[in-house]
Amino acid sequence: MKMRSFQVCQCGAPLQMNETEAPKPTGTQVLLKMLAAGVCHSDLHIWDGYYEIGGGKKLMLADRGIKLPLTMGHENVGEVIAVGPDAKGVKVGDVRLVNPWMGCGECKVCQRGEENLCLKPQNVGVFAQGGYATHMLVPSHRHLFDIGNLKPVEAAPLACSGVTAYSALKKVESTLKDEAVVIIGAGGVGLMGVTLARKMGAKNIIIVDIDAAKREAALKAGATKAIDGSAPDAVQQIQAATGGGAWATVDFVGSGATVNLAVNSTIKGGSVVVVGLYGGDITIPTPYMPLRAMTVRGSYVGSQTDMAELLELVKRTGMPPVPMKTRPLEEVNATLNDLRAGKIVGRVVLTPAA
Ligand SMILES: [Zn+2]
Ligand SMILES: [Zn+2]
Repeated sequence: MKMRSFQVCQCGAPLQMNETEAPKPTGTQVLLKMLAAGVCHSDLHIWDGYYEIGGGKKLMLADRGIKLPLTMGHENVGEVIAVGPDAKGVKVGDVRLVNPWMGCGECKVCQRGEENLCLKPQNVGVFAQGGYATHMLVPSHRHLFDIGNLKPVEAAPLACSGVTAYSALKKVESTLKDEAVVIIGAGGVGLMGVTLARKMGAKNIIIVDIDAAKREAALKAGATKAIDGSAPDAVQQIQAATGGGAWATVDFVGSGATVNLAVNSTIKGGSVVVVGLYGGDITIPTPYMPLRAMTVRGSYVGSQTDMAELLELVKRTGMPPVPMKTRPLEEVNATLNDLRAGKIVGRVVLTPAA
């Protein structure tokens, strides 16, 4: 059986279609026929081969072990078409979401379910071949999740933007119901964050974005107040809206300017969770850390537990209504270019099997 993959063969150059023999699963491996593959903004960084880390410096992904040719695509739902002899809990015909944030499966970090923090990451579509293809080989059944009655194209973005937003919000869960939560950035992940925050019990959600249209979208998605992050008094506006300063800010942009804004508008004892990979750097006066008892931490995608909890939450309360369009797999290059040009509102999900 043949499979087609769209691969990065050279950083930043158009993906090339390669046809190969579809692999036969061995051990715990599972072969999927791809039903849905979401196109994520972070694919642009993977494609380019680097992240900006401020001051014109770059974090090269090749130094982190990314090898070409690479099939990107980490938001995947597929139908099981073959299983290895040791694969458990799945059978041919099952439709499953792939948790792409895989580790070695053997270290202490993986054993406690935090495979997303493993020092030997094998993330699908980043370090291992992903879903911009007709088929995909998943290393183990343990990364497959039942989506119940959710549609594959709806569920696919939960694998990245969904679990990223959920995991970040969980890190401020202690104040989520009783205090305002500030969400910076109303792009795809930020909007997911707004709707998930509401599902998780947040009553007061303040969205900060520099784009009026995105602020409007966030208010429609359930934010209670919107603030223009580029206003000269943005810090004061956030402090006023939160009753003196933010207990919890989740920054889905992650630029120097947004993290500074988050730090400066935090109350004593408050937390800033940086999720976005926009790039930049910040300077924090060190006495702030103890004197304000402030937490500044990062959050990267989500754990196996986060993925299971998120799917439970969504099955129970419904899919976040994030705008979504489908396109054929062959339009992957055009889609990535549109994404880079800022022409995509919400999510595009490729449908290889359509
Ligand atoms: Zn992603
Ligand atoms: Zn590991």
